[in-house]
Amino acid sequence: MPKIILGCIADDFTGATDLANNLVRAGMRVVQTIGVPREPLRSDVDAVVVALKSRTIKPDLAIEQSLHALKWLQAQGAQQIYFKYCSTFDSWYEGNTRGNIGPVTDALMDALNTDFTIATPAFPDNHRTVCNGYLFVGDVLLGESGMKDHPLTPMRDSNLVRVLQAQSQKKVGLISYKVIAKGSAAITQCINELKTQGVQIAVVDALSNDDLIRLGPALKNRPLVTAGSGVAIGLPANWHLTPNAKSSLLPSAKGFQAIVSGSCSQATQAQVAHFKQSGQPAFEIDVMQLDTEQAKQAQIEKALQWAQLLVSKQAVLIYSTADPARVQDVQKRWGVEASGVMIEQTLAQLTQGLVRLGVSQLLVAGGETSGSCVQALQVTQLQIGPQIDPGVPWCYAHSSFSASQGLHISLKSGNFGRVDFFSKAWRVLS
Ligand code: ADP
Repeated sequence: MPKIILGCIADDFTGATDLANNLVRAGMRVVQTIGVPREPLRSDVDAVVVALKSRTIKPDLAIEQSLHALKWLQAQGAQQIYFKYCSTFDSWYEGNTRGNIGPVTDALMDALNTDFTIATPAFPDNHRTVCNGYLFVGDVLLGESGMKDHPLTPMRDSNLVRVLQAQSQKKVGLISYKVIAKGSAAITQCINELKTQGVQIAVVDALSNDDLIRLGPALKNRPLVTAGSGVAIGLPANWHLTPNAKSSLLPSAKGFQAIVSGSCSQATQAQVAHFKQSGQPAFEIDVMQLDTEQAKQAQIEKALQWAQLLVSKQAVLIYSTADPARVQDVQKRWGVEASGVMIEQTLAQLTQGLVRLGVSQLLVAGGETSGSCVQALQVTQLQIGPQIDPGVPWCYAHSSFSASQGLHISLKSGNFGRVDFFSKAWRVLS
């Protein structure tokens, strides 16, 4: 049985792909699994990323799923565990109890019997940086970014030490950028000092990729790392792995091209607008008309008929993407959770229909949306290929809905990708 060296648990599907992408680029061969596999691993790879859909579920359930993933990864030989969350540090949100990142971290630390880990969502390639514990999205603080209006997990406090301390039973501290700049010996010394003060989780500043590379050696042999995807760039070197072209090779692509977008994040709004403005075909799902099963099926039917006429000639986009005011109207009518699930299910069924029509190059925008679509397509494993934009690679998967069985698919987290993402992604495969 092949043994892996790094075992990763990601709290959503696009986040898992983002992490896998960074590991591939740093020289690891990576498979991403959808949920915890029932069988042992068959492929000979360096790392497995188990994609859960635990970002927006209650802490108890998120802990249960994460511990189940941990057990499976340990059985595959994982020497180090990486708990991956969003680069905007958001998770389950209800009333005053905000977040399951802390509870899951606590549970993994206890299960791994470790008294120290780090926490940092920094991902400088995607303009997520942490300074003095404050998370920046581009040039603005997290709490002033588009994340303050996220449909499921709004983030209004930018201080990660405060955010995490409110979620964790363990003492949270900080490793500042001044220490990170001095390199791994200084980082290790700082960790030891923090431990004497009773700190068990340290939020780590990182302003650049160089910071993350410097952090890597200080994480060697630590049972648990918790982070966004950025920290991954500094880890493979701990096993003497270096970047190489072979780790991202995929089979050649053929078949029709389609995009399904359920993300309402600012970047996706701009990408949808750009696609439409450049004269390419786009179909908007009327989300106010999804209240009965019959109405939902009618919308799906209408969208698929539209797509069938066009998709053999060019890439088509089907979307529910809307601005915060329109999202609020929908949520007022059906509630936040119910409207999210209803739209995700509609887009997932639509995706099945598109693949049945012969689409075998598919872009999906939105973390939760991607999770639903991948589940609906009964995809269980993704081989990670070349990157389209930071955090978003093409992947290759098998789906029983595809006549050719093989499917090139890319799962785009809402705020990722440049404005022309939907047009240029295809070129990376050709
Ligand atoms: P992102 O990665 O941008 O956060 P997600 O897919 O994770 O995107 O989350 C977007 C959520 O918003 C999903 O639950 C989706 O079903 C929901 N949604 C999509 N379109 C609309 C809309 N027009 N109104 C309300 N909610 C929507």
